[in-house]
Amino acid sequence: MTQLFWYVIVDSDCTRTVHVDEVSQVIHDTLHDPRGLIKLGHEFHQVPVNVGRVIRAKRVWRSSDVVCVEYRVSSEKTIRSECGFGGLNCAKTQFTDRQVLLHVDLWRKGSVDCRLDLDDYRRYVVNHETLHILGRDHVEWPRDPNEPCPVMFQQTIAKGRCVETPWKI
Ligand SMILES: [Zn+2]
Repeated sequence: MTQLFWYVIVDSDCTRTVHVDEVSQVIHDTLHDPRGLIKLGHEFHQVPVNVGRVIRAKRVWRSSDVVCVEYRVSSEKTIRSECGFGGLNCAKTQFTDRQVLLHVDLWRKGSVDCRLDLDDYRRYVVNHETLHILGRDHVEWPRDPNEPCPVMFQQTIAKGRCVETPWKI
């Protein structure tokens, strides 16, 4: 069980098309959905950006029971330089630098290789990347294409291998 403190920023090159309050609302609603990560016993606390930055900068946490994560909407260019690949969202899980980079194009339009509608795609991304922060790795897809996809399968590039869903935690 983890207490996760979180906040959201939108990079300056993405603020024209994405609004921070909208992103915060989606993340809040997804994290608190009874089908989601609270089922595992985790607690989520949204904090203001300035408070969250202090928490992360101080690097005070010595327990994996408490983490602070920055969700950051970023351009393809930034994702490539921060994560080392493009076209995907990514989670940086280092103890001192927990950050989820949300790809601005995927956030706005979803993924052509995933059949989820935009609302569910965003919920999937929040659950998937937050579970990376909580220590989970990727898993394979089920053999039966009619089975629901696990949330730790990369559903952005699912290509119909299983039935995409944000909720198979
Ligand atoms: Zn992943």
